[in-house]
Amino acid sequence: MLTEAPKGTKDIYGSYMEEWQRVEQVMRELCSDFGIKEIRIPIFEHTELYLRGVGETTDIVQKEMYTFKDKADRSITLRPEGTAGVARSFIEHGMYNNPQPTRRFYIGPMFRYENTQKGRQRQFHQFGVEMLGSYSPALDAEAISVVAELLKRLGIKDVELRINSLGCNECRQRYNTALKEYIGSNIDKLCDDCKSRFDKNPLRVLDCKEESCQRIIAEAPVVLDYLDDECKEHFETVKAILDDMGIKYTVDEKIVRGLDYYTRTVFEFVANGIGAQGTVCGGGRYDNLIAECGGQPMGCAGFAVGIERLLLMLEAQNGEFKETNEMDIYIGSIGKEGLVKSQGIAYRMRSEGIRAEGDSVGRSVKAQMKYANKIGAKYSVILGDNEIAEDTANLKNMETGEQEQIKVSELVEIMKKKING
Ligand code: ATP
Ligand code: MG
Repeated sequence: MLTEAPKGTKDIYGSYMEEWQRVEQVMRELCSDFGIKEIRIPIFEHTELYLRGVGETTDIVQKEMYTFKDKADRSITLRPEGTAGVARSFIEHGMYNNPQPTRRFYIGPMFRYENTQKGRQRQFHQFGVEMLGSYSPALDAEAISVVAELLKRLGIKDVELRINSLGCNECRQRYNTALKEYIGSNIDKLCDDCKSRFDKNPLRVLDCKEESCQRIIAEAPVVLDYLDDECKEHFETVKAILDDMGIKYTVDEKIVRGLDYYTRTVFEFVANGIGAQGTVCGGGRYDNLIAECGGQPMGCAGFAVGIERLLLMLEAQNGEFKETNEMDIYIGSIGKEGLVKSQGIAYRMRSEGIRAEGDSVGRSVKAQMKYANKIGAKYSVILGDNEIAEDTANLKNMETGEQEQIKVSELVEIMKKKING
């Protein structure tokens, strides 16, 4: 127990951490180009927020939440997703007064009590974007284009964008009635989960991954046939914008997404190369959420990308991640005087933006040189009592093996020139 992390969690370190940081950097630059600002919301919220904001009939609320009572007997839940928290924050801080739309992104851990498998953890991470304050189809298309551009910048291929429209509340109502009728007449053939889903929210049945249910779902009425003219027009415009952007998609009438708050456009990016958990991103328009959470009705669109799944894709495509070793200089030492000076010089170099490391173990000179090699130092120097007394030492270029005699008192300046030009 003591030496084992809880099931479904993962330590992030080494080459995996490096790749993660690179990916995060791309996300941050991307958001800056789109005018999307970062938001950091709490990792836990009042449970009520998710009951309302995610929806009582969803798998998340039914099965997956980490809910507990705090010491003052409040019901608290570790966030299973970020949209509800951003919506809550938007209302709480009166962001209505912003020039709209308000565009926000977040990167951070989410928590769901799930059956763990490859690409499915209990603590996982999402990069999410929420755009609040517009009913225009341009907002839906813009949200989709952020993900398309992210995948492009990361060089990820073999991903398919699938889009659908769920229509507005009225369309959904009409569709629900038709769906209920169809599913109701096939209820015996559905799995037990779906039997109870059907009672609470027939739309959820379409999300089922059981093969027996899939066969029934394949013949079910499709929501696109129930859209009114306005919703149809909205969907057509989203597609026209994507066409103009050169973003390829397929319309998939079976996509309904797992969360209750979606209206009109819904979409997924699905990868082929990483096994069963291929959905790397899910998103859509959610015009009901802000009102559901107690605010003024407001048009919104957004998405969340699973960072671990993104990294699985990168690994499948590019091979194992490599840790980079980068150090400008290793300043070794022998004896007390050498130790003191080498540490002081290394410290001053770092203030000049030179990556420097000294001996902090007490190794032999031979072992120090071996270590300098291992950390990928570009230069090395060893300072002993003689070098300090005579103010001369040999600076070694580790790549070429060349040595040059330098003044110890000028080492910082010399390295500054070599590294920064
Ligand atoms: P799934 O159908 O795979 O359970 P979901 O519909 O529950 O996905 P969303 O709530 O839309 O997923 O979350 C957006 C993205 O977050 C997913 O597309 C996926 O990349 C990632 N994600 C969701 N749950 C997990 C998890 N348990 N572990 C790792 N990544 C996850
Ligand atoms: Mg899920």
